[in-house]
Amino acid sequence: MIIGQILKSKPRGVMTARPEDSIQEIALRLSSRKIGAIVVVGESGKVVGIISERDIIRLIAEHGAKALSMPAKDGMTREVVSCTKSCTTEEIMAMMTRGRFRHLPVIEDGGLVGIVSIGDVVKHHNAEVELEVTAMRSYLATG
Ligand code: AMP
Repeated sequence: MIIGQILKSKPRGVMTARPEDSIQEIALRLSSRKIGAIVVVGESGKVVGIISERDIIRLIAEHGAKALSMPAKDGMTREVVSCTKSCTTEEIMAMMTRGRFRHLPVIEDGGLVGIVSIGDVVKHHNAEVELEVTAMRSYLATG
């Protein structure tokens, strides 16, 4: 399965933040949308970073309550690994395992078109495996 198909089953639009947004604002957005990471975009709309719940925990551990008023740009990961709609679930599972992260922005022609989480990938991958098992069982049963 390719990422473009997974994106079709998700709500349109990607939640983004600006580099100057505070960690508190970002935590509020993550909590209200029930998501684990947010892509940070610059003025031109270009992806400049990603910040996940894990970064927020780290900032609080390092700076205590002061972390909440820090800007996203001071806590985000700047080297963002991304994929395109034509990447396969196998490819992005390997990227997530190698990079030890659970979120992958989807970029087409320089623009952000979606984000996939490890949860999305596992869900669709399991559905695909189940389909294969059913097809093989029926093949074996019918000879
Ligand atoms: P996560 O497992 O997605 O919560 O992220 C764990 C760490 O990896 C955090 O420091 C994130 O900022 C970072 N991270 C998450 N997604 C990506 C990505 N696609 N590219 C680079 N770093 C990422």
